[in-house]
Amino acid sequence: MIEMQEVYMTYPNGVVALNGIDVKIGQGEFVYIVGPSGAGKSTFTKLLIREELPTNGAVTVNNKNITELKWKEVPYFRRNIGVVYQDFRLLPKLTVYENIAFAMEVIEETPKNIRKRVMSVLEQVGLKNKARFIPDELSGGEQQRVAIARAIVNRPSILIADEPTGNLDPETSWEIMQILEEINASGTTILMATHSKEIVNTIKKRVIAVEDGTIVRDEHRGEYGYEI
Ligand code: ADP
Ligand code: ADP
Repeated sequence: MIEMQEVYMTYPNGVVALNGIDVKIGQGEFVYIVGPSGAGKSTFTKLLIREELPTNGAVTVNNKNITELKWKEVPYFRRNIGVVYQDFRLLPKLTVYENIAFAMEVIEETPKNIRKRVMSVLEQVGLKNKARFIPDELSGGEQQRVAIARAIVNRPSILIADEPTGNLDPETSWEIMQILEEINASGTTILMATHSKEIVNTIKKRVIAVEDGTIVRDEHRGEYGYEI
């Protein structure tokens, strides 16, 4: 369902971020992407959501080579992928409810569907009682749960999480991992870039290690493999 073939990515300033990536990830997998800072992890995820185009190679998502998408097809393609970031990226002036509903409004869901589905994902992330709060009134862990709810509200087949626990304390990080595991258990493919040795070595999943733009390790139930 996700495949990269001979993928190279050189930024306009000449930095080689990916240097020949070949990988296949099946529907429903949970994959950690690990590696030192600057290894190419973010670039890898940006190619999967067509935020960047590779210099060379094919990026196939759900049987479509997305490097060939026309500009106007990109928003439709992105509906099928949810993204969560380290810094949450919520809209600060909107309530929790509105932040999540907004993702459904842009795809023109009916108000009735929106109400039902937003309450359902709020329940899933344990924030039903905070629907009317604004992000500033929430803890970091709660804000990340809102971001996750927003990312899955349109039922994407893939969820990309770029260091989702990077700004959270250990206890909150485990809560976030539990939610991600539940989402994965319902069939959503999860790709999670992380620097958390504790998480990777405790909740065992496939580990893809990237260094200098290439995959140096790809193991089922792998280890983090770095000291920090
Ligand atoms: P990671 O997520 O593993 O830290 P990145 O994919 O962000 O790695 O970066 C890979 C390399 O590409 C680094 O050398 C980084 O400095 C460079 N890079 C990332 N984004 C850009 C950009 N927009 N323009 C130029 N170079 C970039
Ligand atoms: P992260 O690795 O936490 O995802 P970024 O992707 O923002 O962080 O940045 C990773 C590296 O890429 C950093 O070293 C940053 O300086 C570099 N970088 C990001 N954007 C650019 C850019 N537009 N031009 C040059 N370097 C960049």
